[in-house]
Amino acid sequence: MLLTISTTHRPATDLGYLLHKHPDRVQEFEQSFGTATVLYPEAGEERCTAALMLEVDPVRLARRVGRNAPDFSLAQYVNDRSYAASSLLGVALADVFGTARSGICKARPELAGRAIPLELSIPVLPCRGGAEIARRLFEPLGWQVDAEPIPLDEGFPEWGDSRYLRLTLTGEVRLADALGQLHVLLPVLDESKHYWQGLDEVDKLLRSGGEWLATHPDRTLITRRYLGRRGGLTRIALARLAELDGAAEEGSDPEAAEEEARQPEERRVPLNRQRHDAVLRAIADLGARSVIDLGCGPGQLLDRLLRTPGIERVAGCDVSARSLQYAARRLRVDRMTERQAGRLELFQGALTYEDPRFAGYDVAVLMEVVEHVDPPRLAALERVVFGAARPGAVVVTTPNREYNVLYEGLDGLRHPDHRFEWDRAEFAAWCERIAAAYGYAVERHGVGEVDQTYGAPTQLAIFTREERADD
Ligand code: SAH
Repeated sequence: MLLTISTTHRPATDLGYLLHKHPDRVQEFEQSFGTATVLYPEAGEERCTAALMLEVDPVRLARRVGRNAPDFSLAQYVNDRSYAASSLLGVALADVFGTARSGICKARPELAGRAIPLELSIPVLPCRGGAEIARRLFEPLGWQVDAEPIPLDEGFPEWGDSRYLRLTLTGEVRLADALGQLHVLLPVLDESKHYWQGLDEVDKLLRSGGEWLATHPDRTLITRRYLGRRGGLTRIALARLAELDGAAEEGSDPEAAEEEARQPEERRVPLNRQRHDAVLRAIADLGARSVIDLGCGPGQLLDRLLRTPGIERVAGCDVSARSLQYAARRLRVDRMTERQAGRLELFQGALTYEDPRFAGYDVAVLMEVVEHVDPPRLAALERVVFGAARPGAVVVTTPNREYNVLYEGLDGLRHPDHRFEWDRAEFAAWCERIAAAYGYAVERHGVGEVDQTYGAPTQLAIFTREERADD
């Protein structure tokens, strides 16, 4: 089982730093099901290739039945696990390149944070759905996909193709993203990840998938296959991905449509969409002409704001440079006319530090942001937004924790990065306190389908600045 990662970034040997594996060494890493070896078949200034070889021990694999065995249903001694890249390669990759996958690189921090020319190659990849599915999954992530079916037997072309592909991906991608994508998509293509899956699998998926998964056109298919078609987990994962990005249309995926037919609740307008609608309605009611989206994430709201007539200036700010990159891509900033570009400002900033760029807008939006801030830092955000930037109005949305019991199987917070989630009373108290402290009036609404007992899934508050003598 083999995966090679090549770059032509110069000096290409920097790949060793990014992967945290020295190009001069051959290193072995024991796995519960075999041995992973990392070595560099080439390591020059112009091109460097790292190879991850995985030797699966079928006996060890068969013995490791239980929670930690990555593939216990394959408790046979004869199978393709030793030869074909599979979910096992995804597991080994996560282990061997764990630090690289997190994007941390003290030696080359700048390089770790940006896209570099990469070529990933897997000579034998089991791929349910063939070359087409490989293209569907990797192309939206910016890869050029070369997927060549491997014939069952070269001597008998009439037998047709096997379910294996030779896959080469070429593109300019951040290495950490590339590794995260493989980690999620190898088992998705293989579909043999049958081992026990608990809720932590959903967390793992969201952590590895992050932003690229939330905005992937086939995220339903990916999520369902990754979670082994366990409907309950899939629904939770999709609900939580929708928290990150609900705008994607699910309709184009026939398999998803089939699943939805069985689950009428999934056919509802995604919550994220309803939240955007509610925020846009509030902005329209306020008669705003300039809006700043604080913690804009990958920029879906900005996209809709730019399409809203009457809004002359739009700004988006986020602490995450990657989110801003996604936003710029979504908004096609590079193809904007000067006039269009003149309406938009996109910048990196932290909401817990005063920043003159936050000021001067009719409305500031804090959509699903406050719950990402550590409680001890929340007072700083409040001062920065309501005290210093002081927009005419602030629209805030945040989850209603009470509603979580209605998400089947969810027993924690809705997203691994949430630092807290408020119930309705807590949010109401926060709103009242902020309004009184900073001279705003406040009204609150629910967004999404209201449950008699638990209320609506999302809470929304509209703060409007009260004119004071000194204003
Ligand atoms: N508003 C977007 C994204 C919500 S996710 C939407 O509703 O779709 C929360 C976002 O807040 C993330 O993009 C995160 O990077 C950003 N964020 C969290 N803490 C922040 C801070 N202190 N300053 C700026 N942005 C922050």
